[in-house]
Amino acid sequence: VAFSPGLLYNNSREGIERGGNLLHKVVSVGCDRYELGTVEKNLKAALSELGGIRSLIPAGSSVFLKVNLLTGRDPKDAVTTHPVVVQALAAILIENGCRVTIGDSPGGPFLPDRMNRIYRVTGVAAAAKASGAALNENLTSVTASFPEAHRLKSFEVMQAVDETEYVISLCKMKTHSMTLMTGAVKNMFGIMPGLTKAALHFRFPKLVDFAHAMVDICEYKKPILSVMDGIEAMEGAGPSAGTVVNANVLLVSTSPHHLDVAAARWMGINPIEVPLLQAASERGLCDRSGADIEWIGLDPEAKAAKPFKTPLIHEPDFLKRASAIPVAGALLEAFSSHYLKPRPVVQEKICIGCQECHVICPAEAIQMHNNRPVFDLEKCIRCFCCQEICPVKAILIHRSWLLNKLSQS
Ligand code: SF4
Ligand code: SF4
Repeated sequence: VAFSPGLLYNNSREGIERGGNLLHKVVSVGCDRYELGTVEKNLKAALSELGGIRSLIPAGSSVFLKVNLLTGRDPKDAVTTHPVVVQALAAILIENGCRVTIGDSPGGPFLPDRMNRIYRVTGVAAAAKASGAALNENLTSVTASFPEAHRLKSFEVMQAVDETEYVISLCKMKTHSMTLMTGAVKNMFGIMPGLTKAALHFRFPKLVDFAHAMVDICEYKKPILSVMDGIEAMEGAGPSAGTVVNANVLLVSTSPHHLDVAAARWMGINPIEVPLLQAASERGLCDRSGADIEWIGLDPEAKAAKPFKTPLIHEPDFLKRASAIPVAGALLEAFSSHYLKPRPVVQEKICIGCQECHVICPAEAIQMHNNRPVFDLEKCIRCFCCQEICPVKAILIHRSWLLNKLSQS
């Protein structure tokens, strides 16, 4: 990878002044395998472009490495941050005198047995042991107060995160059935414990409000650094039921929002279409066009990867407008629940009857019959947490022929 010459950089999340413009660095490093030495070397090269880890985090500080452990899946499924990237970054931090704790609150209940299983299956337990980092075992939460928030002025947050000096968002490059893509900002949603995340979907059923709530959570703890594992990524029905693709890249930035703009471009997604970037952009946290990014390393336009296959996330505009009309809106809502909105469906032969979807559903829209989920579509808020949590990809998002036609028109 050819890097630009070293630049004077003030290492703040506010960016650097260049010719009257405020620019934010995003470093992209080509990396095509999960080999510890290679990943560590590439991460060190990327971090040196940001002034080195010491310029961001003083030695002796406590750091929470917020990985993406959505659910207990093998690293080869590309659902979770790969343990080799976790180990490499933890080792770099420890080498620089940091006290590192690795953790996340996955989907579903936040319980010790469940966490131990997820740490083990995802390879993160072994990564922590090999690097000398601690695994988070503190499953208690505290109430965070954030008066500057646009939607979420108070919320539950993991105590371990709240009490740590610095947080790093170590995320995975994936598409997302609700928010189009998931990255450094969405990864911070996992600092909310267990089922409180699912409840947030119920509190903010409109995508625009949910997107602002995600930005609020990220801005509350403001990760000092964001790193995206895009060596193997996920396209299609992400964040857990999609297909693995080789994107061969690691992205690093001090701004989670700019990192996500860069990731979107890397994935061939127009950042303007991404709800979380729309919310961040409205709040002046980034320019979705990427005009305020200083690219270092590989040019996203010159990348070899094909554009990712993405889920269709938006409802036709006329549905949104009609739902605001009192009586007609209610009738249309009932009709559209069945025929016009995307909806979860179970593949009964694949389902193993684990009930995880039933437990996580924030709208209580899933009942189990004959050990298989049945969906109440009038209650369903289309958060697709059920698809996310399903360990065997048994839930599909069905879009009717009519909906697809209307979405294209
Ligand atoms: S059925 Fe699935 S998509 Fe609908 S509200 Fe429940 S978890 Fe969300
Ligand atoms: S659909 Fe998936 S999550 Fe739901 S019961 Fe079946 S296997 Fe479990």
